Amino acid sequence: METKIIDGKAFSEKLVETVAVEASKIKSAIGRPPALAVVLVGENSASKVYVRNKIERTEAAGMRSIEHKLDVDTDQATLLALIEEMNNDDAVDGILVQLPLPDQIDEDAVINAVAPEKDVDGFHVVNAGLLATGQDSLVPCTPYGCLLLLRDQLGSLSGLNAVVVGRSNIVGKPMAQLLLKESCTVTIAHSRTKDLKEVCARADILVAAVGRAEMIDGDYVKPGATVIDVGINRIAAPERGEGKFRLTGDVDYDSAAAKAGAITPVPGGVGPMTIACLLRNTAVAAARRFNVDIADI
Ligand code: NAP
Repeated sequence: METKIIDGKAFSEKLVETVAVEASKIKSAIGRPPALAVVLVGENSASKVYVRNKIERTEAAGMRSIEHKLDVDTDQATLLALIEEMNNDDAVDGILVQLPLPDQIDEDAVINAVAPEKDVDGFHVVNAGLLATGQDSLVPCTPYGCLLLLRDQLGSLSGLNAVVVGRSNIVGKPMAQLLLKESCTVTIAHSRTKDLKEVCARADILVAAVGRAEMIDGDYVKPGATVIDVGINRIAAPERGEGKFRLTGDVDYDSAAAKAGAITPVPGGVGPMTIACLLRNTAVAAARRFNVDIADI
């Protein structure tokens, strides 16, 4: 059986087109486009690239982007005051504070300072709680993007055995909650899991969110399984020249693809879905705040 390569780039482009249509409906209803405020503290080079992408894609989808750049030595009180100001600003629909934050700032305090209805990252404890209890919430972008790819690939996920490797608050746990909501039988594996290979090899759906380059190889994959690689790792690529890097996932693509029924590549799999889902969350947040009916995206 041929392995299907799941094209997250193409899927995300279609999703962004749909979001743009809904964003224009919102604009007609409330007199302005949905607006996303992004806060960047410091000069982390990867974060700067992510923020620039988010801003460009937000504007390309016909939405307004508001950028706040703060010095690396910004104190927590200053950041919290800015968040409070945006919480109270009716012209802001979504607030995203780019992580990681400098050491002097408590990330949990910042995440939980964002008004839950503007929390387009879906990290606030209220949104996490709503998701865990099966209620409507703003869902973290990366796991939601994975879910959309899985639904597109498999249709109904009901009754399937799903293993999520990784239990972070931003990927592993919400991914598991979303799969449970789809009526999968879900196992969350982590660094203390015994017999990880055997656990993974029982999965119809295997989601790798480990942060370890190419750790999940073909031995972890059940024949015909759908493999979702969330990992983004920069590893040395001397074959491309001295000091060069390449991006790779948490899955060893060649050996996993040889056994999987379908698999996401890195790059071009889950990565593009994350930003597309951020735009989706911004439109959804605006629609909910102003009671505008939009399509279920
Ligand atoms: P994280 O917070 O570092 O969590 C990693 C998880 O993997 C932890 O739960 C850890 O277990 C588990 N783990 C580590 N080593 C393991 C091992 N040897 N065996 C089994 N489990 C192990 O990472 P994250 O933020 O969830 O991110 C995960 C990956 O996704 C990273 O590669 C990251 O770059 C990528 N990512 C991609 C996107 C995207 O847009 N595509 C977005 C976010 C993250 P313990 O809890 O026991 O320590």
